[in-house]
Amino acid sequence: MPTDSHTPPAEGSRIELDGQGRLVVPDRPIVCWLEGDGIGPDIWVAARHVFDGAVASAYGGVRAIAWMEILAGGKAHAEAGEWLPQGTLDAIASYRVAIKGPMTTPVGGGMRSLNVALRQRLNLYACIRPVKYYRGTPSPVREPEKLDVVIFRENTEDVYSGIEWEAGSDEARRAIEFMRSEFEADIRPGSGIGIKPMSEEGSKNLVRKAIRHALDNDRASVTLMHKGNIMKFTEGAFCAWGYELAREEFGDVTLTETELWDGHGGELPAGKVVMKDRIADAMFQQLLLRPSEYDVIATPNLNGDYISDAAVAQVGGLGVAPGANMSDDVALFEPTHGTAPKYAGQDKVNPSSLILSGVMMLDHLGWSEAARLIERALEKTLQAKTVTYDLERQMDGATLLSCSEFGRALVDNMEN
Ligand code: NAP
Repeated sequence: MPTDSHTPPAEGSRIELDGQGRLVVPDRPIVCWLEGDGIGPDIWVAARHVFDGAVASAYGGVRAIAWMEILAGGKAHAEAGEWLPQGTLDAIASYRVAIKGPMTTPVGGGMRSLNVALRQRLNLYACIRPVKYYRGTPSPVREPEKLDVVIFRENTEDVYSGIEWEAGSDEARRAIEFMRSEFEADIRPGSGIGIKPMSEEGSKNLVRKAIRHALDNDRASVTLMHKGNIMKFTEGAFCAWGYELAREEFGDVTLTETELWDGHGGELPAGKVVMKDRIADAMFQQLLLRPSEYDVIATPNLNGDYISDAAVAQVGGLGVAPGANMSDDVALFEPTHGTAPKYAGQDKVNPSSLILSGVMMLDHLGWSEAARLIERALEKTLQAKTVTYDLERQMDGATLLSCSEFGRALVDNMEN
């Protein structure tokens, strides 16, 4: 298979954008897929069976995905001697929607991580993690169904920028000396130094995407989660820029909590979204104690990393949670777990994280009938306690299925 130029499937057409930057999806859209390493091939086979089954069942053959394989990771390295061929990046940018399996970080491959490289080179600035409960999943809390949030995590800035110097290094010593001489900042000698850059542009891009999602999906609120009481000019600025953007670009459809209570007695007018903000530590408590008060959360990179996993644990979904990374015009969907190399090729692991990432993808395409079919089939399968090993070991009286059997069970459980 060529990795620098891809031959699109003859029966498919390209997904285009309209004048407002919204997707125009043909009945046979070309969607790129990257198999991934380790358990990637196992979960891809199961998941694709589910995607194709749901689309066929929902649209009776009128719509179908024209899959186009592109390469990255171990498969690209084996076939083309490169971990992340430029042709793969070009194909994702050009066809706009892709779904991938997990990928091994190449040792000595000249990059920190393939996933980070993909995000940076395609400017996928928003990491999106929907967190909700599927009945039948074992959960550590009493009412997991009360949590239903979508987390928008900024993906390119914050302490993840990679600008840091080890304690005792020449760079750290010079940075400490510079801070002392230029700003009279007193940093303990011998400290390690890390930089936390956060921009107005990066913050506003993320908050804009979160507000649009809330409006498009009839969600009541967007909460800006930040630690601005301590980090005023990064986290605090994120919050201020978020409110500013809501006023400037969505002034007619957003209101603040004060406006909601003073002007509307706490009753949200139809079609409007309330903007809230919460300090990061309080947000963790709120998701446990008052989960139903939150819909969409927009937050900088590090907070987003923490709150995503904490929230997912609440619904019992650690390891089966879906995710997507998006720019303004490209969306890359992926499971949140890694390559689990010890299970590779055993047809054993749970394909739900990739399947639910596909549910996000179908919603992104506007094919929500097929997406809901999969979600209902998943709940039916979980409630029947027919599950893969990871859930079987947490349930009494469950039937153990292989990865591919689980995919087939979902298709069998689809009800139009
Ligand atoms: P991992 O691959 O997520 O596996 C850790 C453990 O999580 C597994 O041993 C298994 O636990 C459980 N698990 C993961 N996926 C599962 C599934 N689909 N079904 C059931 N259980 C599952 O994490 P890792 O071992 O730290 O990372 C391995 C490699 O993956 C590394 O090279 C890392 O860089 C890469 N990685 C890639 C991505 C990505 O591509 N987005 C993300 C994270 C890590 P039990 O053994 O307890 O059953």
